[in-house]
Amino acid sequence: LVRSLRCNAVLRTILVGDSGVGKTSLLVQFDQGKFIPGSFSATVGIGFTVRFAISFLHQIWDTAGQERFRSVTHAYYRDAHALLLLYDITSKSSFDNIRAWLTEIHEYAQSDVVIMLLGNKADMSSDRAIRRDEGERLAREYSVPFMETSAKTGVNVDLAFTAVAKELKYRA
Ligand code: GDP
Ligand code: MG
Repeated sequence: LVRSLRCNAVLRTILVGDSGVGKTSLLVQFDQGKFIPGSFSATVGIGFTVRFAISFLHQIWDTAGQERFRSVTHAYYRDAHALLLLYDITSKSSFDNIRAWLTEIHEYAQSDVVIMLLGNKADMSSDRAIRRDEGERLAREYSVPFMETSAKTGVNVDLAFTAVAKELKYRA
């Protein structure tokens, strides 16, 4: 507790992307180290998780259903220091919508917000609709880092969250 009181900053990361891409599952995998199959409803979810990262408290927020109605609030964007933007490698529409998400992010988020693009469900390679190099190309176009993740197997999950925390600490 003493250590937490000494924390001088809260870093806020939010998960965005189409409904069904695996945002909640990714956060559950990061938080609990496990995969719980099946969709999480709009109301069920852990909301956010926290990690201590040296002198920072790192909060990671899930959009918990608002994305279905494209009503992610502007305040939610404005208060974010970092965004993990997800698509599903088996869903072309979720990939095509990344540009729309980025337009919204550029409109409402802080100009120096840290963004990372994640192609989730990397374990489902037999149903793949988006090649890895297509993800890489889109990320390069917007000058953001890119990784393929799997909330199911856990591949790159810790790495993605750690990379964001490091980038935030570096910029702070
Ligand atoms: P959200 O709407 O973005 O929060 O997506 P959910 O976390 O609710 O996941 C939507 C569906 O995709 C659920 O059926 C999950 O079990 C499944 N899912 C999520 N991530 C993965 C993954 O990495 N691999 C596989 N195979 N399924 C996943
Ligand atoms: Mg969800």
